Amino acid sequence: MSSSIKLFYWDVVIPSMKKGQLPTKICPVCNRPFEWRKKWRNCWQEVVYCSEKCRRNRNRHAELVSASKL
Ligand SMILES: [Zn+2]
Repeated sequence: MSSSIKLFYWDVVIPSMKKGQLPTKICPVCNRPFEWRKKWRNCWQEVVYCSEKCRRNRNRHAELVSASKL
């Protein structure tokens, strides 16, 4: 059945987009916007951090946030 072929929005729409039109998110660790990347095409909705480095730094970030609340 053709319906078994799963097409993601990112597979269809994103490749036709030019730089600057790609979806962006703000990284909560470095507070910088980052653009959609091909490796995230199947998990963009779950992507939170711009890089592995920021992902590893998230605990430090959480400490800073909780410290600033005290
Ligand atoms: Zn970052």
